[in-house]
Amino acid sequence: MQFSPFHKSEPRNNVFQAALLVLISFAFASAPAIADQHEKKPVQVLFKNVNIFDGFSDKLQMNMSVLVEANYIKEVGKSIDAPGAFVVDGGGRTMTPGLIDMHQHVMLNPPEGTASYQTRWDDAAGGAFAIHHMNHNMLMKGITTIRDIAGDPLDIAKAIDGGHLAGPRIYSSGGAISQTGGHGDWAGRNVPPEILASHIDMSQRTQNTWVVDGPAQVTKAVRLNLRRGAAFTKVMGGGGVASEFDPLEIMGLSADEVRKAVEISTDNGTYVATHAYHDASYNRLLDLGVRSFEHGFLVTEPTVKRMAKMGEKVVWSFQCFMSVNTFGDYDAMPAFFTHEQKLKGVAVGKGARRAAKMMNKHNVFTIGGSDMFGVPFVERIKEDITCNVDAGYTPAQALKHWTGNAGKVLKWSGPKDPYPTYELGTIKKGAYADLLLWDGNPLKDIKLILDESKLVLVMKDGLTYKNTLVGVDSPIYRPARPPMTRGQFPL
Ligand SMILES: [Zn+2]
Repeated sequence: MQFSPFHKSEPRNNVFQAALLVLISFAFASAPAIADQHEKKPVQVLFKNVNIFDGFSDKLQMNMSVLVEANYIKEVGKSIDAPGAFVVDGGGRTMTPGLIDMHQHVMLNPPEGTASYQTRWDDAAGGAFAIHHMNHNMLMKGITTIRDIAGDPLDIAKAIDGGHLAGPRIYSSGGAISQTGGHGDWAGRNVPPEILASHIDMSQRTQNTWVVDGPAQVTKAVRLNLRRGAAFTKVMGGGGVASEFDPLEIMGLSADEVRKAVEISTDNGTYVATHAYHDASYNRLLDLGVRSFEHGFLVTEPTVKRMAKMGEKVVWSFQCFMSVNTFGDYDAMPAFFTHEQKLKGVAVGKGARRAAKMMNKHNVFTIGGSDMFGVPFVERIKEDITCNVDAGYTPAQALKHWTGNAGKVLKWSGPKDPYPTYELGTIKKGAYADLLLWDGNPLKDIKLILDESKLVLVMKDGLTYKNTLVGVDSPIYRPARPPMTRGQFPL
């Protein structure tokens, strides 16, 4: 880790340039001698009188100060001396790290759901829907980082990091690796095999998924993702609800295919995440070195105990809202699901409550990922956090799944980490300045996070996207709408 104030080591980060622009425009308006002094000083913001949830502890640190310099946290303490810093009085509000959704599919957001993406919308519209939702339903609501786990927003991530678009940080797997007929095979039944194999059907053309068979094709697809900037690999290890040809009980990729995906990913210093539901797939994938386990709602206690024993080498990724609330109820499921898909959903809904109880009881290392995409779900993502509490976790645990634990797992990307310089999901010296201020204490009342008027400040990467602490006539007022470009001001 480096703590250079000028962040020269960040490949996908433009904060320094943004700050420099401010200073250069200042220089034009001022005497050159003054400009020289200012060019050496990075922008500092000092938050005073805030109660901190650090991403891990179940207690707030009361009456603290946090010093942000450029895009990272320089200091956390009772009283911090920072002459020249822009001071924000937190007024005893709660400060949490920015929220991290560890299971998103931002490219799968056309209004009618994933299936329509194949037939009704092209990839340009897919990108437009993606940035709209990342903006309004993620960043502005306090989700400052997402792990995109199947889909290809890699160039959108580049545009966000370059300051051209406003959105959360993105750790993406790129296209999911699926076998023919697996959870990533979204082509229609009558798409000719030669089209599927040539990767020119819609989902593969956009690189939101790969339909591949055999270790050689898996190798190629994994390497193509990593070449374009994927931070990890997503494999389809078992059957799924939202796909047409794969009952939940089946295995997905063969052992040889998963082994190859793990080998290539590990060779690149990163890890493999998997979609799977049941004991057979979970255990085979554990044997093969997969580390991030999504869903898993049909597993039994011996598998849960095995995961618990592995500590933080593996993680369970809980999709609470979609599984418990939506899949539990045949009639509440998306209209684009077939009858068979809805029956699969009901089975998952029942299993999810049981799985969460076992994972909690055995203290399995856990993260939260909403899997909520497609209107209207994308508008309700934060209900996945409150759902964790309904499923038996404490508010502090629920927030830890979405902050501290998530930040640890993101760092598993090693040399493929797009944001390698600082930590994420925590408030401490040497973490990225992704910070939220809430009216009230979410550790006491988790539901308050659903009330957008209680979220009074959203800072990502040291820049403020929402600020209703001040009145509308203040030049640093940022209402709950995105700025057209990254802020020229830190506040
Ligand atoms: Zn998913």
